[in-house]
Amino acid sequence: MSDLSDLYQEVILDHNRRPRNWGALTDATRKAEGYNPLCGDRLTLHVKIEADRIVAVSFEGSGCAISKASASLMTDAVKGRTLEEALDLFGRVHDMLTTPIDQPVDEGRVGKLAVLAGVREFPTRVKCASLAWHTLKSAITNPAETAKTE
Ligand code: ZN
Repeated sequence: MSDLSDLYQEVILDHNRRPRNWGALTDATRKAEGYNPLCGDRLTLHVKIEADRIVAVSFEGSGCAISKASASLMTDAVKGRTLEEALDLFGRVHDMLTTPIDQPVDEGRVGKLAVLAGVREFPTRVKCASLAWHTLKSAITNPAETAKTE
């Protein structure tokens, strides 16, 4: 567990400092807003979907290091995946984040996203880590959120 904790710290700091897929996406086909009132994290997710596949994804917003790092990891993880695969990954990450801290996480199910399991040591921050994933789910499953691009 301590190895995962160290890696968790390292990955969160790195992604917070240099967030991947940061910024707007001018040709996005979906846009969703995420807000975590407990911490004040705000997130705007831009997704470009072509033939049921996420071909591009980016995010902007302001929030704590965990929310930013989680969004950075999430965008990296779902880019190129089909919507079904992305929703499946959402479920796996959600399961992981809600697994009690005294139970092991099955790293095989989530790959490098297993580092996010470290957030379970700080229960009030779990919502920071899950914000990006809930925002992704809403972008995929709620077509009403479709962004209009001219
Ligand atoms: Zn937060």
